Amino acid sequence: MNEYDSNRIYDLTKKIDYLKTEILDEADCYVLNTCHIREKATDKVYHDIGRVKKQFRKKTKPIVLVTGCVAQAEGNILLKKEKYIDAVIGPQSFHEINKIILNLEKKQKSINFTEFDVIEKFDNLNSIKNSCNEISSFLTIQEGCNKFCKFCVVPYTRGAEYSRSLKELSEEAKQLVNNGAKEITLLGQNVNAYNFEGKKLSDLIFQISKIKDLKRIRYTTSHPKDFTQDLIDAHKDCEKLMPLVHLPVQSGSNKILEAMNRKHTIEEYLKIIEKLNKVNPGIKFSSDFIIGYPGETLEDFKQTEKLIKDVKYINSYSFIFSARPGTPAFKLEKIDQPEAMQRLISFQSLAEEIKTKYMENLIGKTSNVLFENKTKDKNKYFGRDEYLNSVIVRSSESLVGKIRKVKITRGNHKTLYGEIFPNLNQNNYAA
Ligand code: SAM
Ligand code: SF4
Repeated sequence: MNEYDSNRIYDLTKKIDYLKTEILDEADCYVLNTCHIREKATDKVYHDIGRVKKQFRKKTKPIVLVTGCVAQAEGNILLKKEKYIDAVIGPQSFHEINKIILNLEKKQKSINFTEFDVIEKFDNLNSIKNSCNEISSFLTIQEGCNKFCKFCVVPYTRGAEYSRSLKELSEEAKQLVNNGAKEITLLGQNVNAYNFEGKKLSDLIFQISKIKDLKRIRYTTSHPKDFTQDLIDAHKDCEKLMPLVHLPVQSGSNKILEAMNRKHTIEEYLKIIEKLNKVNPGIKFSSDFIIGYPGETLEDFKQTEKLIKDVKYINSYSFIFSARPGTPAFKLEKIDQPEAMQRLISFQSLAEEIKTKYMENLIGKTSNVLFENKTKDKNKYFGRDEYLNSVIVRSSESLVGKIRKVKITRGNHKTLYGEIFPNLNQNNYAA
């Protein structure tokens, strides 16, 4: 979502002639768009500001803005601790950025902008064309969260759930496709909680699937509690909807799920997987895990390990529990940290083993790959298959924006390499 927000910040600042630059030490304005989900994100802000300071030691100081969730949660602390920062702007206030920059140009103080103006923000953004021209583009459809998992900052930094209208989203999706997008990933902190005047995520998926040149649709991140039958059915009925579902579970233990306030059990979670597999046996899953949550015993952890062996996630994103100020879990007693670290290492090596087996199994098979760009090595193209696996092939024909059948000839746990099937039907799904 921060990538989407950063692109929209560029679209806004263009209006006052501030353009994106690759030459960092010539920049007149630095915008650090931040994430607050785990501790290291805040440390990174201080580190990045330190780097900018060093770079500009002998030059005129640029305008320095910190945007995003760190600004929302720790804006006043940042401003107090780091005088080099001119203003902090929360994720629901970044539509004010031009006013703030112009004030700072006139040396007027612009400090803390962290109101929750989500409606005003999207009203503003809707009037400005989305100029993103990536083959695979993001589209924020929903923001915020009402779930209040005990460990999570999102309800406090992004605010309550808000869904954009079907009409404005269809318009923006068309703009992205006109700019060249072949794939759109619909984004939301709880993307399947999307609800605009009774229209759900599945309605939006079917609506944008009508855009002829759009070939692939994805969505992330979904919450098990909101995984309704209509969304499950969309995986059967919508050809453009990709068969990879990112469905965070956090833990394999019901006791820990309850402690986290996740609002579902493992049995309910597995039922969703079963239903999805039934409507589309090709579906694969990825998930997020928090290891070492307060109260997690070795037995709880073993249940999480059992879960990943059973589901065989093709991607597992695991994080050690990070106590975030302001969340209910902040005050809970942490488990022994060397033990938590040991569990994380063991979990990640198991997840890697599962992933490696999966990737090895793809060698010799064919997959449909949407090519996104040329690699640094001329005549080689980078793309992704339906499961987001990275695939590289050699080709004398430009493949950017095209979907080709590729025979996978070799690979490692990160990247697959293959050859284009010259004579095979170039399956473009609903093309
Ligand atoms: N809304 C999604 C859900 O509920 O599944 C997750 C969104 S959250 C922005 C992304 C991931 O960050 C979570 O799934 C969780 O694994 C991780 N995360 C969030 N807070 C965390 C914390 N305090 N410590 C460690 N990991 C955390
Ligand atoms: Fe955070 Fe996701 Fe829980 Fe909402 S549902 S509080 S975004 S982890």
